[in-house]
Amino acid sequence: MKVLVNNELQEREEVRVDIEDRGYQFGDGVYEVIRVYEGVPYTLDEHLARFYRSSQEIGITPNMNIEELKLKLLSLIEENELQDGGIYVQLSRGVAPRKHQYDVHIKPQLIAYPVPSKRPVKEQNEGVEAITADDLRWLRCDIKSLNLLYNIMIKQKAQEAGAFEGILVRDGNVTEGTSSNIFIIKDGTIYTHPAGNLILNGITRTKLLELFTSKGWAFKELAFSKETLLQADEVFMSSTTAEVVSITSIDGNPVGNGAPGTFTSDIREAFQESIESSIVP
Ligand code: PMP
Repeated sequence: MKVLVNNELQEREEVRVDIEDRGYQFGDGVYEVIRVYEGVPYTLDEHLARFYRSSQEIGITPNMNIEELKLKLLSLIEENELQDGGIYVQLSRGVAPRKHQYDVHIKPQLIAYPVPSKRPVKEQNEGVEAITADDLRWLRCDIKSLNLLYNIMIKQKAQEAGAFEGILVRDGNVTEGTSSNIFIIKDGTIYTHPAGNLILNGITRTKLLELFTSKGWAFKELAFSKETLLQADEVFMSSTTAEVVSITSIDGNPVGNGAPGTFTSDIREAFQESIESSIVP
C-alpha cells in the first residue's frame, strides 16, 4: 500500500511516525475520511474545504494548498488502484519536544492512505439499534479534530450493548451520533440539529439537505429533544461511511413499528442516485 507522507508517496512499511508527533501525543491535528466509489472520490471538494477549515480553526497551515492536495489524493487513489473504499487524511501540528504550547513555525505532518470501507448493506436494509448517552464533549464539535476520546467511549459502549451507534444528548436535545448526524421524521417533516459548534456539519448531512430541497421534501434544521426522538415516526443516521442507515430501536424501544421506514428508504435512494451521478463522467 502506498501512503502519502507530506509531499511524497511511500510504501506502508517505510512510513515512520516520530514519537514526538503532536498528533500522536496530544491529538493535536485534524482529519477527514473520504469515500471512493468506482475509483472516484465522492464530494472530494466539500471534504477538502472542511479539512482546511478545521486546520485553520486550530491554527495549522497545511504545507500545500487545496488544489495541490486534491491532485495528490487523486494520484494516491490511482497508485493504490483503489476502487471501492475510503481515504483517510490526517494533518498533525508536527514534531516538537513534548510540551503543551508550540512554536508556530513547526512543520505540519500530513498523511493520507486508503482504508477499507464497504457499504453496510445489511444495516441499511434491516436498520440498526442505537443507545443514547450524555454529550459530554467539548464545545467545538464543528472541528474535525483527532481528539475522539469521548466519541470512541460511547461508540464502544454502544457496541458492547449490541448497538450500532450512540446518539448524543446535550441539555435534553439530540446533537448527533458518535460518528454520524442524526435525523428524525415526524408527521412528514425531516428534522436535524442545526450546524454550529455543537455538531460536526457532515458532508453527507449537507448533501442530504440539498437533496431534500431539490425533491421538495419538508425539512427543518431544528434541535429536538430526546423525548421527541423516542416518539419519531422514523430515525436515521448519516455519514460518509454508513451513508443513510435507519435506526429502528433506541435504548431498547422500537422506533415507529420497529422496521426501517419508507421515507428513509426514499432518502437512501435519492442519496444513491447522487452517488451514481458523481461516478458517471
Ligand atoms: N458527526 C461526527 C461526530 C462524525 O464523526 C461524523 C463522521 N465523520 C459525522 C458527524 C458525519 O460526517 P460526514 O457525513 O462528513 O461523514
